[in-house]
Amino acid sequence: MEPEAVEREFDVVVIGAGAVGENVADRIVRGGLTAVLVEAELVGGECSYWACMPSKALLRPGTALHGAQTTPGAKEAVTRTLSAAAVLERRNYFTSNWQDDSQVSWVEDTGIELLRGHAWLTGPKSIEVAGLDGNQHLLRARHAVVLATGSTPNTPPIEGLQDVQVWGTREATSAREVPERLTVLGGGVAGTELAQAFARLGSRVTLVARSGLLRNFPEEAATLVAAGLRADGVELRLNSATERISRNDDGTLTVSLADGTSVTAGKVLVSTGRHPALEGLGLESVGFEPDESGHLALSTDTSGLVQGLPGDDPWLYAVGDAAGKNLFTHQGKYEARATGEAIVARAKGELKGTPDDWSRCAQTANQHAVPSVVFTDPELASVGRTVEAARKDGYNASSVELPIQVAGSSLHSENYEGWAQLVVDEDRKVLLGATFAGPDVAELLHAATIAVVGEIPLDRLWHAVPSYPTISEVWLRLLEKYGL
Ligand SMILES: Cc1cc2nc3c(=O)[nH]c(=O)nc-3n(C[C@H](O)[C@H](O)[C@H](O)COP(=O)(O)OP(=O)(O)OC[C@H]3O[C@@H](n4cnc5c(N)ncnc54)[C@H](O)[C@@H]3O)c2cc1C
Repeated sequence: MEPEAVEREFDVVVIGAGAVGENVADRIVRGGLTAVLVEAELVGGECSYWACMPSKALLRPGTALHGAQTTPGAKEAVTRTLSAAAVLERRNYFTSNWQDDSQVSWVEDTGIELLRGHAWLTGPKSIEVAGLDGNQHLLRARHAVVLATGSTPNTPPIEGLQDVQVWGTREATSAREVPERLTVLGGGVAGTELAQAFARLGSRVTLVARSGLLRNFPEEAATLVAAGLRADGVELRLNSATERISRNDDGTLTVSLADGTSVTAGKVLVSTGRHPALEGLGLESVGFEPDESGHLALSTDTSGLVQGLPGDDPWLYAVGDAAGKNLFTHQGKYEARATGEAIVARAKGELKGTPDDWSRCAQTANQHAVPSVVFTDPELASVGRTVEAARKDGYNASSVELPIQVAGSSLHSENYEGWAQLVVDEDRKVLLGATFAGPDVAELLHAATIAVVGEIPLDRLWHAVPSYPTISEVWLRLLEKYGL
């Protein structure tokens, strides 16, 4: 069949059907507008197939096993190590074997139109799509275009990197085999999680980081995670810059470090951060140019509206990783809900200008209360500001910290080691942030998120009594140490 040029009009065109694009489109159709979701790869995006889901599926069995191994009574029953084959099989289940049928059904049932293909802007509210059906689709958006195109891995400036085949997080999370030796470059969340996942699956892992491990978190918390990795046999080469990478005759890869030493492994995973995927999107056609590094970055307001467009028609939005604010699925989906609401409200004439803080159209929590969890064992869970960030933002901030030593933690497992911190706004006596590190602390985080978002005064928080004997009792100890 001859390719056709198909022209169509929708209220809103959403480019990218990751978790974030799906959520924007959902809000749009719930609000009574029409939406088309354009996707070049799999509906569900990075999180479902190459990020959150597979990485957590790779980690969880190791955490469960370690939990049993550190609980007398259960540990005597543990006589084997992890079954790597079973773990990989379970990972395949959680990625639906990289098939997106169930997410496509959801999109269709929700009343969203799905168009498979690669999209780019050709001008204001005009999009061209090279359809996977071979057709060229010309889309016109009556109200808005939403960029939900995700992010792209950074390429670190390492000599020889372009000449060898390395893993990115996609290859690591979809690995079919466990390498005998793995070198991980990068001490951020993804690198740290995947280093532990592969170590527990049987790889000999070396993690090389230019600076410390998890350096965006309080040092005490990151130190506990580092100890957990070391206990699993991960060699940590922190504050070590990688200078060169080269392939040996036997197919292994040697990473040469600035201190003159080197690490050799069958596989190298490069996990050195990500930037918004905005290249090739035709942003030049609406007046945006790349910076000196060749990257495009957009600035968005609290409704996700892209700033700096000519005219006063609010039509272009960026959400999720594409907006470059907080590269987490949960926060991207939050942005998506707010942006979807804002687009509908503007289309109905119910919203003019910038939405009020904490309204359904505003992403206010982005500034105050972003939660994040590092799913290593021990876990690291954090929300809001660190004390340093709070002071930098002009708050009169103090902090209170403690090792987690309560009845719930001692019952949880043998030699439970944990650490907790609250960051307090001394002027208003409310929480600005909280961090917990230790086995199974991730589920403590939402209480802290509620306290930070709700700006609950500490003397009222005092009346939120943690059940006995849970690890949450650390809240009581922290408030007591604070002086309540
Ligand atoms: C290893 C790893 C583990 C992670 N674990 C977690 C976790 O546990 N929890 C968490 O909250 N976050 C986690 N993250 C981050 C999370 O994956 C991202 O924040 C999330 O996927 C962003 O969603 P998104 O919809 O913005 O982008 P994506 O999921 O990347 O979706 C963007 C979609 O847009 C499509 N697209 C791009 N350009 C075009 C175009 N021009 N035309 C058509 N389609 C296009 C892409 O194909 C893609 O499907 C992890 C990340 C990594 C790398």
